[in-house]
Amino acid sequence: MPKMITDPEILAAYNEDALGIKGNVNGLFRPDSESDVIDIVRSCAAGKKFLTPQGLRSSLTGAAICEKGAALSLERMSRLIDIDVKRRVAVAEPGIILSEFKKSVEEAGLMYAPDPTSAGECTLGGNVATNASGSRSLKYGATIDWVQGLRVIDGTGRAVEVRNSLIQKMCAGYGAVYRPAQLFVGSEGTLGVVTQIHVSLTQRPANLFLAMVFFRDLKSAIDFIIEAYEKIEFRPASMEFLDRVCLEIIRPNAKGIAIPSDAQAMIYFEQEYHDDSEKDARLNLWFPLIEKHTPLADDTQIAETPKEKKHLYDLRHHVPSRTNEESVKVIQSGGCKISTDWAVPHRLLHQLFAYFDEIRAPLGDMMVIRFGHLGSGHPHFNFIARNREETIIAQKIDDLMAEKAVALGGCVSAEHGIGKMKRRQLAIQYPAPVINAMKALKREFDPAGIMAPGNIFEIE
Ligand SMILES: Cc1cc2nc3c(=O)[nH]c(=O)nc-3n(C[C@H](O)[C@H](O)[C@H](O)COP(=O)(O)OP(=O)(O)OC[C@H]3O[C@@H](n4cnc5c(N)ncnc54)[C@H](O)[C@@H]3O)c2cc1C
Repeated sequence: MPKMITDPEILAAYNEDALGIKGNVNGLFRPDSESDVIDIVRSCAAGKKFLTPQGLRSSLTGAAICEKGAALSLERMSRLIDIDVKRRVAVAEPGIILSEFKKSVEEAGLMYAPDPTSAGECTLGGNVATNASGSRSLKYGATIDWVQGLRVIDGTGRAVEVRNSLIQKMCAGYGAVYRPAQLFVGSEGTLGVVTQIHVSLTQRPANLFLAMVFFRDLKSAIDFIIEAYEKIEFRPASMEFLDRVCLEIIRPNAKGIAIPSDAQAMIYFEQEYHDDSEKDARLNLWFPLIEKHTPLADDTQIAETPKEKKHLYDLRHHVPSRTNEESVKVIQSGGCKISTDWAVPHRLLHQLFAYFDEIRAPLGDMMVIRFGHLGSGHPHFNFIARNREETIIAQKIDDLMAEKAVALGGCVSAEHGIGKMKRRQLAIQYPAPVINAMKALKREFDPAGIMAPGNIFEIE
């Protein structure tokens, strides 16, 4: 069994996440194999020692950080085991970096669709454990839609292998377990350590263009999204939103992209097509919609060449990283980035934006950065709280918006998970018996309660 590392200099890196949140890690395991994981978990269960699995700590909810006990990093278990092109299935170890996994799949002529903005900074195992999604979920769904099977070392050290049935029809017991691999998706390390992942793959789109459309007000940007969602019958891969603050963040790097000085919002969308005639037909549908919703239609930027597309993609992707850097800056003074993760049916987005305007006064001059997956009804409102007092205020606004989202048929967390920062919101989402059923599941797989303490549930 690998020895537990206790060198404080090594531990420091494993004690901090992308937001700059620090934990109380007291040891580190870096297993090379599943049998190492089994030995580590068994020994921790026997000694009632807490263990938190870690990918690359890009989680935005404190989930990867150890509230108590040791970290188990999967970074050394990063093998791509197989790509079966005929069956369109890939098998990998959890520590593989998502962008590297996606690249290998592409080289084999296929696509692994989930595409969180953090692809270069997160692992496939972390994606499974948080049910990561991202911009292209609009067309392709979230990680849960692609996981076919898993091997998990549960909190007793037992290997549990789960495979979803390959047929659609199923009537064996409770519906919640018809696709048993899904039981572990979103479990945030609380049920065990995922050691092997089977995912389905799909065909790569033949071509894709990106567009950036600018708006003079938020309302028009949302109207555009709603109408595009309802009228454009070929679903774009993504429809993303940046607010005025984000436009100022990207302006210095915009190189060649003229961002109108009076733009208050931008919608970025990705449209797939097969050939030039289909591209023209699709552009011909998009342009009237753009012209209808914004007087800035002539400023629309379309990227078609790989270089142009990369530039637009990188610009959009720069925003979350910059926002997280703001969080790291304020951590020392007791602050943090508080980010909403609610989502609502896209038709109801106006109500959530209007509700925010009603309740935002206590935020005062706190920096508010809004961007995200508006096409999926899922924008992130990021509040950069500069101290403890502002953090409490921002959390309250986040909770109020989460309550409103659930009341309108949405959810409290659409992609980042509950972790430690959204535990209060679990009870907004589910009635007590459902929360109790999740706790019972945890007791089955982790009777000693050693796995990922403080994630999803308060430590009891
Ligand atoms: C700049 C930036 C952009 C982001 N954009 C997106 C986005 O577009 N969409 C999105 O969904 N998320 C996004 N995220 C959040 C984050 O990248 C995801 O939550 C990601 O899935 C975490 O992966 P990770 O490998 O870093 O896992 P970690 O952060 O290390 O861990 C996350 C959780 O997974 C558990 N875990 C990790 N590996 C395992 C394992 N093998 N077995 C069991 N449990 C495990 C941990 O215990 C923890 O609870 C972004 C983050 C950043 C920093």
